[in-house]
Amino acid sequence: MIIGSHVHFTSDEQLVKSVEEAISYGANTFMFYTGAPQNTIRKNINNDLTKKAIQMMKENNIEIDNVVCHAPYIVNLATNDADKHNFSINFIKNEINRCEELKITKLVLHPGSAVHITKEEGLNNIINGLNRILKPNSNVILLLETMAGKGNECGSTLEEMKYIYDNIKCKESMGFCLDTCHLNDSGIDISKFDEYLNLFDELISIDKIGCIHINDSKNALLSHKDRHENIGCGTIGFENLINVVYNSKLKNVPKILETPYVGKNDNDKERLFPPYKYEIEMIKNKEYNPNLLNDIRNFYNKC
Ligand code: FE
Ligand code: FE
Ligand code: ZN
Repeated sequence: MIIGSHVHFTSDEQLVKSVEEAISYGANTFMFYTGAPQNTIRKNINNDLTKKAIQMMKENNIEIDNVVCHAPYIVNLATNDADKHNFSINFIKNEINRCEELKITKLVLHPGSAVHITKEEGLNNIINGLNRILKPNSNVILLLETMAGKGNECGSTLEEMKYIYDNIKCKESMGFCLDTCHLNDSGIDISKFDEYLNLFDELISIDKIGCIHINDSKNALLSHKDRHENIGCGTIGFENLINVVYNSKLKNVPKILETPYVGKNDNDKERLFPPYKYEIEMIKNKEYNPNLLNDIRNFYNKC
């Protein structure tokens, strides 16, 4: 099983920080943003730090090809605004270059949002953008993430993903990232995940799945909301998520947790603790811990 979570990447410690954090959770992979997820301010990559991080990965059984980078969510390839579209294309090209420098081979991207335009126009803008970004024989595979369908989000149905994929010239440099919360919120019943997987295989191809985000959801099937919940605490439930993680067809695909940090109580926004060490433990044991949230609070309060 290849499992990890979202971790930090700081400007002064870069991947070294990410690896340290992943190890502290008992993970054998991780996902990071090269800067804040909400903005596009990025620092140069420091090669000494990268070398150190790669050495740490080797010593801790973290296979670098399973490590995932996530592009910030404010780039938007679906937009009709030429300046924003060009900015997004250039940013993603630079992000691919940063991944190359960091020796990271997987980059997750949200397809984009069709603001003030039709879905079809948005999808065509995404295709045009991707055809300007994707290069043959790239070391970095761009993974489009399945979305919840919040607002005007593109990529919330398999049909939309297939439409994008069918119109991409450089198919060898792209793949997909499934997100269980997004799938649930877009109307896919995770208790019938195998049916979805078969359909994905029929329309696209199962070996195009390069990453899976494992999240529970705060909202009901088809809610189009996109609010992640801790593993086993939401509407998808522990058993259904375990069946995704342990699906034999997805054995070699990295599973990444993006579940919310836990406060002292539900209203506490000040002291927040990462849930990942505990969630990874539960997943490894295949046993739901009904005291999950309290155990997390107690662990970090003692530190
Ligand atoms: Fe994402
Ligand atoms: Fe996600
Ligand atoms: Zn999400």
